[in-house]
Amino acid sequence: MALTEAGGEDGAMAISPLVLLDVDGVLNPSRRSSPRFRRHTYVLDGRPHPLLLDPSHGRALLALARDTGAELAWATTWSEDANREIGPRIGLPLLPVVPLDADTPVPAEVHPKTVHVAEYVRGRPFVWFDDNHGEADREYLRAHADVGDFLLVDVDSRNGLGAGHLDTARDWLTARASMGA
Ligand SMILES: [Mg+2]
Repeated sequence: MALTEAGGEDGAMAISPLVLLDVDGVLNPSRRSSPRFRRHTYVLDGRPHPLLLDPSHGRALLALARDTGAELAWATTWSEDANREIGPRIGLPLLPVVPLDADTPVPAEVHPKTVHVAEYVRGRPFVWFDDNHGEADREYLRAHADVGDFLLVDVDSRNGLGAGHLDTARDWLTARASMGA
């Protein structure tokens, strides 16, 4: 994956931020919290699994990335299946996937995904939409040498991603950009 760079007004180069996406509890909530959600079935190992997806999420996330100069990436146990089963159903293109298979020790109370995200970002600022963030995850990220600025956006798994979460991300990314960060 190439790091994209944008020149600031003063000629300084800034590394583009990441927007990390979870699937279950974020794009696939536990209940149909708005009429926009469509029911789908995902077949895994011959067994059907229900999915609830809001097709407007793709447009909203692409607009967020475009307007703030950020790059979308999957941070989900769906891994590459997110590109096959989720992205096309909500209008997202193929996105980079945070690898979750590295054999990295996970401290107690830290979500295993957090350890892999810390390895992946390599100092790039990031927003992360997830329904499983806890204080231990924030502490782990703050203490990690390769993690720069970040914003964890907590999503209620019953409702999934909403306009308020997107606005929070947009405000943070816009403020960073206007500071020339
Ligand atoms: Mg989740």
